Amino acid sequence: MRAHDVKEILIDKSEIAQRVDSLVDEIISDLKPERLLVVGILKGSFMFLADLMRSFHRHNVHPRIDFLTLSSYGSGTISSGTVDIIHDLRDDLSGAEVLLVDDILDTGRTLAFTKKIMLERGAKSVHSCVLLDKKAHRSVEFEADYAGFAINDHFVVGYGLDYDNLYRELPHIAKVGFHE
Ligand code: 5GP
Ligand code: MG
Ligand code: MG
Repeated sequence: MRAHDVKEILIDKSEIAQRVDSLVDEIISDLKPERLLVVGILKGSFMFLADLMRSFHRHNVHPRIDFLTLSSYGSGTISSGTVDIIHDLRDDLSGAEVLLVDDILDTGRTLAFTKKIMLERGAKSVHSCVLLDKKAHRSVEFEADYAGFAINDHFVVGYGLDYDNLYRELPHIAKVGFHE
């Protein structure tokens, strides 16, 4: 597989914006916002996380924020099955009420792994929030507490998600078509 092209828009930017706001409404009504530590899983979550934070601001909520850089894919489109920490958190987790934020839930390994280590490090609670939920490839039992959109089994890019570290800048979610 050498050439690839970004095909159709699956979720446009206004649908994303509306859903981000409604996710934050749900999160705020469930969790104690003054105790939140938002943990973004990089790189894919950066745009989603920035919009979530703007929405928290509109609700006058002030979460702390930290980042974890993980890798499970390399440059391909099939999960390698292992999760590596490339860059760890800086903040102490003891007693923290963590909201893990990722771009997409696929096999479930990334979030299951991350939730486990957050709890081992003393987090008081760990909830998870993903923009996209691709249920077709789940290989471990994991469901996100907050999920923006359920999608079918397409490889998608944009709004932070990449193919080979490209297309993260797109303001929408698009399907990728592959050809030889
Ligand atoms: P999981 O550990 O749940 O299999 O994978 C989650 C990670 O896989 C996501 O954070 C993302 O980096 C990557 N991933 C899964 N599906 C897709 C997809 O359709 N497009 C892109 N760009 N990344 C994906
Ligand atoms: Mg990721
Ligand atoms: Mg990726």
